[in-house]
Amino acid sequence: MSLEAAPPKPSEGVVMWNINTTCNYRCSYCTQRFLDDRTRWARDTPRFLEGFRRLPGRWEIKISGGEPFLHPTFVEVVGALARMGHRVSVVTNFSASTEKLDRFLAAAGGALRVFSASLHREYVATEAELAAFIAKARWVMAQLPLGATFNVTCVATRSNLPALPALAQRFAAAGIRFKAQPEKRDREVISYTEEEQAQLLALGGHNDLGVIAPSFLGRPCWAGAWAFTLDDRGAAWRCYPARRYRREYLGNFLDGTFALFDAARICPYAYCNCTVPIERGMVARETGHDLGDQPGGPWGQEGDDAWAEGSAR
Ligand code: SF4
Ligand code: SF4
Repeated sequence: MSLEAAPPKPSEGVVMWNINTTCNYRCSYCTQRFLDDRTRWARDTPRFLEGFRRLPGRWEIKISGGEPFLHPTFVEVVGALARMGHRVSVVTNFSASTEKLDRFLAAAGGALRVFSASLHREYVATEAELAAFIAKARWVMAQLPLGATFNVTCVATRSNLPALPALAQRFAAAGIRFKAQPEKRDREVISYTEEEQAQLLALGGHNDLGVIAPSFLGRPCWAGAWAFTLDDRGAAWRCYPARRYRREYLGNFLDGTFALFDAARICPYAYCNCTVPIERGMVARETGHDLGDQPGGPWGQEGDDAWAEGSAR
């Protein structure tokens, strides 16, 4: 067990909510493709909202799916969370119409924190489609409230990888932050060659974290106390690896059994794919070699990735 001190208590919590499994895409690399039911969605909006109202203090509710814009009460949920004083982030395949995006932006208002658009090259394949994606991204960025950020993520499949540096440059030229995500198959990162790993690291590694597979095993982490994952049925786990291993269950958000840890606890997972708690400083980060880089390690089913939320998205 580490004697290392936990990072300071976060001033705000984060919920990683997979609001549905429904999606209008069928990406070949989607980690949800083996789910039995890809039509699930959080049905009891009032009870979910009641759960969010009961959380102590201010939380960022990061909503992903599936594709959250397909959820029937998505905009209503976002508006209610903003009125409660929580903040809202979204991970989307960015296929929603500008009218729908407009309604979302209006409902979130100043509560919007991160808008993450996933670029799926199987659906945004031609030059015209890419140009339209970038134009739509710039249109959203122009409407962001103060303090909100926008980024584009793309899965580094073997076929995508050679094209990613040029894509990254293209997005950079348009003033858009671009992040690569390693591809997972059967719950593990694919076996990139050394050359491919170098290419991926040159793109920033997993979500720009500088490594392909971050590990904080043995370090204190606030996830479980100030961060948790929530699925469309209300089941809550400490984080995505916890959900995968069915450990550190926090109860159900809808039936009164939900309870948070009261302090930071040691991370028992060899691979952390929870970008949000990491970026929010919930676990002590050190740079470079000791973050670990273990492709082929115990990857979680549910990642913090744009392409897998719900999935692993
Ligand atoms: S896997 Fe990541 S989020 Fe989960 S306990 Fe470990 S460091 Fe925290
Ligand atoms: S990767 Fe994302 S957009 Fe693609 S099928 Fe899966 S959930 Fe849908």
